[in-house]
Amino acid sequence: VRLFVFDDYRVGAIAADGTLADITELAGPGAAGRDRMTALIARWPEVREQAAAALAGPAGRVGRRPLAAVRIRPPQPRPPKIIAAPVNYRLHQAEMGGTDGVYPGAAIKTIETYAGFIKAPTSIAGPDSRIRLPLAGRRVDHEAELGVVIGRTALDVSRAAALDHVFGYVPLLDITLRGEEDRSYRKSFDTFTPIGPAIVTADEIGSPGALDIELAVNGEIRQRANTRDLIYDIPRLIEFYSAVMTLEPGDLIATGTPAGVGPIYPGDELALDIGTVGRLEMTVARP
Ligand code: MN
Repeated sequence: VRLFVFDDYRVGAIAADGTLADITELAGPGAAGRDRMTALIARWPEVREQAAAALAGPAGRVGRRPLAAVRIRPPQPRPPKIIAAPVNYRLHQAEMGGTDGVYPGAAIKTIETYAGFIKAPTSIAGPDSRIRLPLAGRRVDHEAELGVVIGRTALDVSRAAALDHVFGYVPLLDITLRGEEDRSYRKSFDTFTPIGPAIVTADEIGSPGALDIELAVNGEIRQRANTRDLIYDIPRLIEFYSAVMTLEPGDLIATGTPAGVGPIYPGDELALDIGTVGRLEMTVARP
C-alpha cells in the first residue's frame, strides 16, 4: 500500500485504479491533523483489511480523486521522534575527512563510534513546501537516505525480529548545516527533513537490503549507492537503537547517507529516487 497525507492532513492510499482513496476514517476518531498517520500506523493491524477493501473495486468509486488534484503533504507530518544514523557508509566516511574533505584534516569515525542522533520532529517537510536556508553564507548539504517507518513498539528487539517492527519505507533527505554546532542543532531546522511523497508499506518492498538510491541536483547525479553498502543494515539499526530506547509506531529512522554529499543553494531542484519506494522532488527556497 502507498500512503499519502493530503490537503487538510487527510490520509489517502493509491487504489487499484491508480487514483487516491480517502481512508482518513481508518485513523480513528481521536486522531486529528498531523497526528493521523501515527494513529493509522498504530491501528494498521486492525484496519488493514478495511483499507484493502477501500482500495479494491471499480474505477471512479465515490471519494476517489486523481493525485494531481490534491495538495501532497509529508506522509508522516509529525513522527514521535526521528533517529538518525551518522556515517553509515564507508565511502561517505572517506569524503568527510582527509585533506579534501568536508571537514579538512578531521579523523572521521563511523556509526560504530557516533551511534546516533535525534532530529526534531518539526524539521519534517514534504512536496508541498520548500527547503529553507535561514543562515546566509553558511554551507548546507544534501544527504540522500532511505527512511524507515516503525510500525510496532520495539524495545530490545533482536536482529532476526527487527523487520517485523517496520511499517514501511520513505525517501528521506537529511539536510545538514556544516559547522561546529551539535548535530541535533545543525540537522533540526524547519524543513531540514523532507520525506515523501508516500510511505510504502513493508510488504511491497520485501528486503530493504538491496535498494538503489540516487540523488540528482538540477538534473546532475550527485549521490548513487545501494543499501547493501550500509555499515549497519536496517535490522542492525533497529536492534541497536531499540536496545536503549523504545521505538514507537510512527517513529522514523534516517539510515545514513552514501558518498557524494555537497552544498545546496537557493533555487536548486533536488530529486531523490529510491525505485519502488518512490521519488521525492524538492526545491530550495530563494530568500
Ligand atoms: Mn544523515
